[in-house]
Amino acid sequence: MQKVTTRNFDTPNSFRIDTYIKNQGYEAARKALTQMTPAQVIDEVKNANLRGLGGAGFATGMKWSFIPKDNPKPKYLVVNGDEGEPGTFKDKYILELDPHALIEGMIITCYAIGSHKGYVYIRGEYLKSIERLRSAIQEAHQKGFLGKGIMGTSFDLEIVVHQGAGAYICGEETALLESLEGKKGFPRLKPPFPAVVGLFGCPTVINNVETLACVGPIILKGAQWYAQLGCEKNGGNRIFCVSGHVNKPGIYELPNGTTLREIIYQHAGGILNGRQLKAVIPGGISAPLLTPDQLDVKMDFDSLKAAGTMAGSGGIIVMDDSTCMVWAAMIAARFYAHESCGQCSPCREGSGWVYRNIKRIYHGEGRPVDLKNLPGIVGNIGGNTICAFGDAVTMCISSYVQKFRHEFEAHVNEEKCGLCSKHQEVAN
Ligand code: SF4
Repeated sequence: MQKVTTRNFDTPNSFRIDTYIKNQGYEAARKALTQMTPAQVIDEVKNANLRGLGGAGFATGMKWSFIPKDNPKPKYLVVNGDEGEPGTFKDKYILELDPHALIEGMIITCYAIGSHKGYVYIRGEYLKSIERLRSAIQEAHQKGFLGKGIMGTSFDLEIVVHQGAGAYICGEETALLESLEGKKGFPRLKPPFPAVVGLFGCPTVINNVETLACVGPIILKGAQWYAQLGCEKNGGNRIFCVSGHVNKPGIYELPNGTTLREIIYQHAGGILNGRQLKAVIPGGISAPLLTPDQLDVKMDFDSLKAAGTMAGSGGIIVMDDSTCMVWAAMIAARFYAHESCGQCSPCREGSGWVYRNIKRIYHGEGRPVDLKNLPGIVGNIGGNTICAFGDAVTMCISSYVQKFRHEFEAHVNEEKCGLCSKHQEVAN
């Protein structure tokens, strides 16, 4: 299998510019800047079927083409490196082990959209990522790959690294823009979309770190090469982050369309202690659960959508048969209640209500009416809010209640399900 975004990870000093250059580093940027027009770069990325790997899966080349050409305002590229989705830890490795892959992707993207300034918004706790990227930017400046007249062309680019302050919602693209502008990280109502009114009111493309790390190889080796690595409409590979009850948790770069079964049993070494699988979150905590009968689903944006869930951020969380699903739902609900930005009432009030409801049920204090009310409360959040966070609460919690209702009933009727004693301490 050909690796794309993790291709340099095993090389000693992979984060240094000299190592990167030895492995064909910055040749793609040179090719784009000297041999291609911006429109040709966008077409190449469109034909590669590169999708947004942060979670939304939107076609990357298409997103770039939305930047208006006749708008006289500056254009910006903003890189989302907030990576706050529980179960997701891939961008940190790209930033730490191959920061020049991101910088090269940014040069090509900025050239394509006519931007001369890029911002990288990195999760505040990712201190090593921030340090590595800052030092890589310095190296790129010294080699003439950033700054004025890049590689002897007339193209200029500066990159600014911004450290986030730890709010999950700042991973939502418009909240990220607000935060970058120095305001509270509140998501914006859309439309207008960032391609038209983005950072500082100017046209802006927002892409994830992993997405941009794919851009250099696409330009160097061609759209066809990249597209055929993956499956239909989902070109290339992606990095799957596997955590939970598996023998070998970690990151695995695999083709889009690899089955969930292969990822868990072949690459991640199967279920810990020889136990049975009970449920899997396939794309970060907000993705609805899958059950063992769905293990043959292909892990790409379209197949997972057809299976009633989503590919999301690529964070696969595996739960074995010792897991109390009421406990797991309560942990997810607590996360949402804590991270809701509070701007809209259904999400602000609803997420707290859902958490308190499930907490009561988990602790054996739930009334039959709590379980009866839960689907209605959860269902009234999604679709009624400013951003997709509300939809995430609905999709995530509904899947626990629908697929494991018998465990919720056991907690209400018998005050426990027989699996939950080991979780008590964490839950409190
Ligand atoms: Fe904030 Fe929730 Fe409304 Fe999103 S849905 S804007 S997180 S309150």
